[in-house]
Amino acid sequence: MNLRLLVLLALAWVAWRFWQQWQRRSRDLGAQRPPEAPPRKPGAEPFELMQRCVQCGTYLPSTALSRSGRCGRCSD
Ligand SMILES: [Zn+2]
Repeated sequence: MNLRLLVLLALAWVAWRFWQQWQRRSRDLGAQRPPEAPPRKPGAEPFELMQRCVQCGTYLPSTALSRSGRCGRCSD
């Protein structure tokens, strides 16, 4: 009776140790991996300036607006 309980406790302890080791290892692997960021061109803006189409009011990247400040749909 007592021996069985002891074995059970030992097994639980071993399993817990394995679990801790596995957790630490997976965390280390995650730390070693570089953070996943999109490749950025040097000198490029971190975010694009958003501007509003003067006709329909849709917000678009300023590069997507035409010279008159209209989106592709409105400048047609
Ligand atoms: Zn528009």
